[in-house]
This record gives sequence, C-alpha cells and structure tokens, in this order.
Amino acid sequence: MTFPDLGRSVPLAPPLHTTSVFAIPDLDALDAIYNGEAPGFIYARDGNPNVQHLADVLTRLARGKWGVVTASGMGATSAALLAVASAGSRIVASNQLYGRTAKLLRAEFGRFGVTTTFVDTFDLDATRAALAEGPAAALVVETISNPLCRVADVPALVDLAHRAGAKLIVDNTFATPVLYRPHDAGADLVIESLTKLIGGHSDVTLGFLSGIDPTAFPAVSSLVSTWGLTANAFECWLTLRGAETLDLRVRAATANAARLADWLAVQPGVSRVVYPGREDHPDHALAARVLPAGQGNMLCFELAGGRAAVNHFMRAAPGIPFCPSLGHTTTTCSHPDTTSHRYESAAEKARQGITAGLVRLSVGCEPFDVLLAEMTKGLK
Ligand SMILES: *Cc1c(COP(=O)(O)O)cnc(C)c1O
Repeated sequence: MTFPDLGRSVPLAPPLHTTSVFAIPDLDALDAIYNGEAPGFIYARDGNPNVQHLADVLTRLARGKWGVVTASGMGATSAALLAVASAGSRIVASNQLYGRTAKLLRAEFGRFGVTTTFVDTFDLDATRAALAEGPAAALVVETISNPLCRVADVPALVDLAHRAGAKLIVDNTFATPVLYRPHDAGADLVIESLTKLIGGHSDVTLGFLSGIDPTAFPAVSSLVSTWGLTANAFECWLTLRGAETLDLRVRAATANAARLADWLAVQPGVSRVVYPGREDHPDHALAARVLPAGQGNMLCFELAGGRAAVNHFMRAAPGIPFCPSLGHTTTTCSHPDTTSHRYESAAEKARQGITAGLVRLSVGCEPFDVLLAEMTKGLK
C-alpha cells in the first residue's frame, strides 16, 4: 500500500475509509480478526471503521449495550423486526406509526406469516388488552408520533410489554437521544432515523438500532450483513459530523418550536396549533413528565382557509421549504394530508384530525427572529 507517510501527525478529523475490502497480511492475522482476538476489518458489508465509529458514538449517546448503523431508518426497523419475529409471530403495534413502518409490518412481514395487531397505544388499557389476546413477540411504538405529536408513555409501555413477555421496540426519531433515551426506561430495542435530526443536514439516508441485551448483538450484526442492510462509510462520516452538534441543534430547535407554537396560537387565520409543550395538547402532562428537557422541534398548525391557504403560505414563505422530511438545520414544512397520509382513507384522516389546512413544521435552529420574519410573510 502506498500512501503518504503522516509521520507523527494524526488527522484531527477522522479519516474516511471508502474501501469495500481490506487486505490481510496472512492466514494467522485473518483468524485473529475472525476470532475477535485482534482488531481489524475484512469485508465492508460486515464492518467498516467509519460505520463502526458512528455506531460506537451513537450507542454511548443512546446508553445502549450495542448498536448497529443501517442503510436507512427503515433498515433499522427491518433489523429490529427481523431480530424478534419469525413465521407465526404476532406483533402489537401503535396505530399511528410512520407510514412505511405500518406497511413493513402489514405487507412485508405479513408475507412471511407474521401478523400485526394495531392498537391505540396512547390508551394503556387497550394496549394491555391487545397484548393479552395471545403471545406477542414485540410491542412497537414511537416516542413522539407523526404528525400530531402524541407522546408515548414509554415507562408504562415497557412494563406492559414485559409483563406480556414481549420486547418493547421504540422508534425515537422525533425525540432523539437528546430529549429522550428509551433504554433508560428499559426499552429493549431503539430505532433512530439518522436521516432526520441526528444527521441534521439533509444529506444522508441512514438508520441506527441499539439494544440493551448483549446476547442479542451477534444475531443482529449477522442479519444486518446477510439481509444487506449495511450502511455506507461516507454517509457515516457525514453523520458523525452532524452528531457532534446534535445536542446544540436539538436544544435550539426545541426552544424555537416552543416559542413559535405560542406565537402561532394567536395569529389570525390559524385555527389550531398542535405542540405537546402547550397546555391544549392531549399529552401535555405526560410530555412534561417523559420529555422534561423539551417537547421537540415538530409542531403542526391548521390554516382555517384549507388547501388554498396552505398553497398561499408555501408560495409566500419560500424560506420555509416544502419538503416531506424533517430535522434540517433550518425550518421546513410538510403537508400530512397530501404526503405522509396521502393514501389513508378520508375517515382515518378525519379520525386523526388531519385536514387539508394542516401544515407540519420541522422547526430548525436558525435565529428566532429570522424564523418569525419568514412565518409572518407566509401568514400575511
Ligand atoms: C423518516 C422516519 C423513518 C424512516 O427513516 P428513513 O431514514 O427515511 O428510512 C422511520 N421512523 C420515523 C418516525 C421517521 O420519521
């Protein structure tokens, strides 16, 4: 290998290792790596230094016992479900999950004989009853739901799941480990879409799965490679850079969201504001208890003028781009009715309160006056 000799200098930023395979000096060295007696890497689908580096950083942040980075948030969700379910298993899941997670359970795991019972997991009695219907491999919930920011009572759900012999799987994407660490409450598996706040700059698609049972790790690590869910080194390198400012960004964005929610609530033309930090949110008391450091950067507001008013807002406030994702450095907006919930029935949308005038904001960490100026243009 020829590479300029760095002498005694070491790069401050981590070097990027974009290689699909590693050269090993001899058979003894290979055996030592395989047997875990010496550090090293062999084939990038099984392991890469940048992927490992990010996994180590995020595992510490999540306070898990192990963690794996995957090619997307859905990759992490797939890995979690593959780790707990087999043909004939039953999963109990929240009926307000991220759309693709619900589809993964219904359409994909369903094909392999895994059934899912969807239930309102914000109703603990209903959840207990669903778990009691028969053996369940896992209960699947999100810390903060999309788009109405319902907050899961994770400590209570851990208790319900474990009493029923099920693992609790928590998708913590909307909260991030800055605001909540489900493992601290005993959650078995935790998913983060790194594509969102943790990456934080809208330039990667990655996921992360962590766990607290060390004996589960070898099987998860193996299935990530075997199903081809492995992450890419460059994206992990970028995400590490994002993760370094995660704490600052989440705290700033959460403070902006709380201020903006109160401002929006008194604006003409705004008929409703949905933010769990506000007293008029159904989970306000629970959110204060479960998320004492802040209730997140996501909020919704409803424009009384419906679809036409939403179009006007988007055209008048180009500084708040319309893009169906979240977690960017600056504020972006989305429209659940035509994006995340596009294929839900009218009855289901009505049940959840997803109307044509409902706008979802992913509040960023720009200066509050910059954000307010743009919002004022949009609402004019
Ligand atoms: C985006 C998202 C996912 C999926 O993550 P990808 O990185 O897009 O695969 C899962 N859960 C939640 C709550 C999300 O917002």
